[in-house]
Amino acid sequence: MSNHVPHIIEVAIPLHLDRTFHYRVPREMEGQALAGRRAFVPFGRRRLTGYILGNVTETPPHELKEIFEVLDPEPLWTDSELEFFRWVASYYLHPLGEVLKTALPAGINIQERKGVGQADPTVSGGKAIKTEIVYRASAPCEPVPHLGAKAADILGVIREAGDIPAAELRRRFGTCSPQLKRLAELGLVTGETREVYRNPFGDDVVKRDTPRVLSPHQQAALDALCAALDRHAFAPFLLHGVTGSGKTEVYLQAIDQALGQEKNALVLVPEISLTPQLVQRFRARFGHGIAILHSGLSDGERYDEWRRIRRGQARIVIGARSAIFAPLARIGIIIVDEEHEASFKQADGLRYNARDLALVRGRMERAVVLLGSATPLVTSRYAAEHGKLALLTLPERVEHRPMPTVELAPMKGVATAISPLLVPALEATLAAGEQAIIFLNRRGFATYLVCAECGAPLACPNCSVSLTYHRQRGQSVCHYCDYAIPAPGICPACGCQELKELGAGTERLEHDLRELVPQARILRMDSDTTGGKGSHGRLLARMSDGSADILVGTQMIAKGHDFPGVTLVGVVNAEASLGMPDFRAAERTFQLLSQVIGRAGRGDTPGRVIVQTLNSDHYAIQNAVQHDGDAFYRQELEFRREVGYPPFSFLACLGFSGTTEGPVEEHAEAITRLLAQLKREKGLRVEILGPAPAPLYRLRGRFRRQILLKSPTRNDLRRLIAAWQQNRPVVSTIREYVDIDPVDMM
Ligand code: ADP
Ligand code: ZN
Repeated sequence: MSNHVPHIIEVAIPLHLDRTFHYRVPREMEGQALAGRRAFVPFGRRRLTGYILGNVTETPPHELKEIFEVLDPEPLWTDSELEFFRWVASYYLHPLGEVLKTALPAGINIQERKGVGQADPTVSGGKAIKTEIVYRASAPCEPVPHLGAKAADILGVIREAGDIPAAELRRRFGTCSPQLKRLAELGLVTGETREVYRNPFGDDVVKRDTPRVLSPHQQAALDALCAALDRHAFAPFLLHGVTGSGKTEVYLQAIDQALGQEKNALVLVPEISLTPQLVQRFRARFGHGIAILHSGLSDGERYDEWRRIRRGQARIVIGARSAIFAPLARIGIIIVDEEHEASFKQADGLRYNARDLALVRGRMERAVVLLGSATPLVTSRYAAEHGKLALLTLPERVEHRPMPTVELAPMKGVATAISPLLVPALEATLAAGEQAIIFLNRRGFATYLVCAECGAPLACPNCSVSLTYHRQRGQSVCHYCDYAIPAPGICPACGCQELKELGAGTERLEHDLRELVPQARILRMDSDTTGGKGSHGRLLARMSDGSADILVGTQMIAKGHDFPGVTLVGVVNAEASLGMPDFRAAERTFQLLSQVIGRAGRGDTPGRVIVQTLNSDHYAIQNAVQHDGDAFYRQELEFRREVGYPPFSFLACLGFSGTTEGPVEEHAEAITRLLAQLKREKGLRVEILGPAPAPLYRLRGRFRRQILLKSPTRNDLRRLIAAWQQNRPVVSTIREYVDIDPVDMM
């Protein structure tokens, strides 16, 4: 026994540490301390949850501490998933323990904080798991001893049902525990605890549908995907299909093929609570076996979905960006719908991009990866042009429906928020019994209030933005930190009581429309009207069933919805997003505008779009209006080439923030000098830009500075950041972050 080899494991700790740790496993836990499970470990004087990565073979140079306890009876992750997470940690230069923690559903992490597991080692159980008691008849043949009438009735019902939840018995009989207790004592029934999954779909029943006969373009795309599925090798595709071209139908049939090969499917969508229609279509086609993962679920629901996936009880996972971490085995196909959407990028903590990770996980799983969009990223089109993605195109709408006609409504010198051209168009639409969508990417009533006396806008004291005036709430609100004051109030600069409203938001638009077209039933959809759970679905349902005429909203209404009754779309202030201080401003504007335009005429009646604009000659607007994605791509690519932005370079952004401005500024300067020195020493090709104040230079009371790194190779970029991280001067009052492939640099 003395030559027993000590069992040593590698553990990742969810703290901001760039390394993992080794621990010794006590004899009695040897069979349990396996990769993919969690363990309580001593860390300094603390007791922390760590993630077991695997065994370590070399004998330790020094005395190692022992783990306290293994937390999970079953592994949370497989070896290949752990390999994926290691890749993520290394690529985003983020601690592996933090990556693993991010990848777990909140339901699990929460019980950790409660410290479950000290008494009960089967922590996968614990508070987050929902159970029910089920009764079953156990001795049906024996003569029944004398029972009260109620007990006899209950027994009859249990015998008839086979098994029945206690809750159901209570619903039928009222209180029945004395009877159930007696029946159990007599050995006539047994009660057992069974796990139940919370059902995020509720109890609604979905009408089943069947695959459609595909158009020739759809069929060609599907054939290519099926051929790739048959090869069982990594195959990345870009599906470029105009709005209404039937991309979703292609997804459904490709998934069907993968399921037929005993493989599973992962579907990523930008914001699932905005796309209940898509989930409905999946349920209509595949019925059960679908799991959904998104931020609108309760922790318990998310945890249950996660466990269903882990246990192989869900074969299709649909979710927002974090679903890229879903514990789905045997992935045959990963679909990223609306691949151009910025919401695939996480904006804090582990700043991953689920669209990019879909390609990484797909490569590891040897899966088909399908990126779909009507307006693909410029970088995706470039990758397709250079053979890194296979291109599939759906150039036409299904059933030869035409693209909508688009007119520009010049707004120079027009005093109203709604163009005089739009009003008769709305009236005609309503008269024909059709529906309209009015889009404005700005919520609130006025954009902001300015003092009539001194001209100062009402600004947030914590953030470098002006407050948005919300008339219904009677407040001016900061959209970043939720700071709010009663409005209209007084000018904080000069005390003047007269404040002017400038600019219009969706609330104002709704108000004006009620006056201009009083006969219309109007809905507004923006983050002010969609606070409650399921509120998106309810608003969208009212458009679908025709109980509303006009939908007014922010970019929430631009995405993916399919309302065949909508024949008119109005776009208010098309260039709002062109002014963003971001090199992707033109691309975003083109995408948004094309998507909104694409909401019109998806049914049998052709669509019409009116675009209100001040600056109509910008190529982003012109090309969107002409449905000319190719022309936009060529012009945008030239611009990117000139300024040296992606796809012609790779970017990383280093951010620094603190509550006083001076130290942040000095720290960012010092880091910039250090980076320049490291770059010279190592001969790296990296351009160091800044430090500069972030466009939002003050946010939630913190001052913010950024350094932008730009390089022709990913490798040089990451080597420079890694070198900095190794001899990073730490200032405790300053927060730092690293953003690889930043999407939003506000
Ligand atoms: P996209 O995702 O490209 O915008 P959708 O998949 O939403 O397009 O398709 C638009 C509409 O056309 C949907 O109502 C869909 O059911 C229908 N559709 C798709 N493919 C076909 C087809 N082959 N034949 C008839 N209708 C189709
Ligand atoms: Zn604020």
